[in-house]
This record gives sequence, structure tokens and C-alpha cells, in this order.
Amino acid sequence: MFFSTEAIIISKKDLGEIDLLLELFTPKGKFWTIAKGARKSRKRFVNLLEEFNIIKAHLRKTSKGKLPILEKADFIFLPENIRIDYKKYIFLSYIGEILSKISSIGGEKTFNFVKSFINLVETNNNFIWLKPYFELNFLKFLGWCPELFRCVKCGYEPKKIFYFSIPEGGLLCYKCKDDRCEILEANILEILRILIKMPLNKLNFLELEKGMDLNRKNKTKILKIAEDFLKFFLLFDINSLKFLKEVLEGV
Ligand SMILES: [Zn+2]
Repeated sequence: MFFSTEAIIISKKDLGEIDLLLELFTPKGKFWTIAKGARKSRKRFVNLLEEFNIIKAHLRKTSKGKLPILEKADFIFLPENIRIDYKKYIFLSYIGEILSKISSIGGEKTFNFVKSFINLVETNNNFIWLKPYFELNFLKFLGWCPELFRCVKCGYEPKKIFYFSIPEGGLLCYKCKDDRCEILEANILEILRILIKMPLNKLNFLELEKGMDLNRKNKTKILKIAEDFLKFFLLFDINSLKFLKEVLEGV
């Protein structure tokens, strides 16, 4: 049985002497496929089978329980800058690792978000904002959208003093605060709110910082909150994170 799908290559491994094993992320979910002879004959797939390339995959299912065979691939979007910009590549590797380790993920909206995000990373270097933007918004697709507008326990909208707890899932009001929460400065909350509300096609990171008077400490805190949030809800270690942070230090 033949079928075709749009797909993002999220990881690849050598298989035997000449074949490649590819993990594809598609609007219908993730699965592995075999590209036969892909390492022997470069001609067949040209350079299409690199990580984070977005392709139209033409596949063939053989028998039940066996991996589908990648018969042909057409290019949709091949990011080039991430191949020459080390930071971009490490950053996308971090996203690739998360996608690969999440046990079940799918759906057209999640796929389109990741696809647009790869496009964005290709042309944008603003990692200070790209990273928390991805982390906070990706949580939405996992069904754990951080609540940044009202108290997670009682629904009250705090006006002046904001408490925040990652295990509780977001904001807490004065009445509901507990021992594990911390105070969140209003300008930090404002940035987090903008990050989680701003649609990807309207992203303007320069606009975001305008009039915000953010110092290094504030930015570090925003980065930490977004990262801790994602880490709290993902039940696995992200190996590439330490490396990514070293690479992004000083950005
Ligand atoms: Zn409350």
C-alpha cells in the first residue's frame, strides 16, 4: 500500500551498510521509515534526508508490523542556514530531541507550528526570545498551556501582586499562594503573556522589548521560567539542553 505525507525529519540513524532509518514527524504523528540504499546512492534522495528538512514523503507499507519504506521524497522546505550556523543547528537539535522523546504527539496544528518554527529559525537569530517562545507555546499543543492571566485555583485576575507556581500550572493570587510559589514581577509576567499570545506569523521580538526596560536578570528569569515549565511537564531529561545553554551563553 502506498501513501504520501508531509513530514519533518526529526532524527536519523544508519541501518546496516547502506540504508538509513529516519524518524518522521507528520500531521498524523511520528513513525520510523527505512530509506533503502540512501547511504550508497546519494543520487536517489539528493540531500533531502537531512534532519529538520521538510519533505513530501512517498511511502510504501509492506507487511504488518514492519516499518514503511521511503520510496521517494520531494522537497518542501530545506533549511540552509542551520547547516552553517552552529547555534541554529544546536537549537533545532534541542527541539528535535523533545519531539523524538515525546511518546505521542500529532495533529495538524502541532505539525504546522513546528514547521513554521523551523522556517522562523532559518531567518531569525534572536535566541533570547525564540527559545522561551517555543517552550511556552509548545506546551499548548501538549495540553498544558501555562495559565498566565488568572489564578489557576480560583480564577481571580490578580492586579498588582503576582505569585507563580510551575507545579500548579501558572499564576496564583494572594489568597491561593502556597509555599512553593514565587513572586513574579509585573514586567516579567507581561513579557510571558505576550510570548504566549503572539501568533508565530506576527512575531516581532524587537517590538516585544520596546519600553519594557528589561535587564539581564529579568531576561534570565523569563528564560528560566519557560524552560522549567517545559521540563516540569516533560517526563524525561533533555540531553541537548546543557549543550544548548553553553552555546547560547552570552547571546
Ligand atoms: Zn486564587
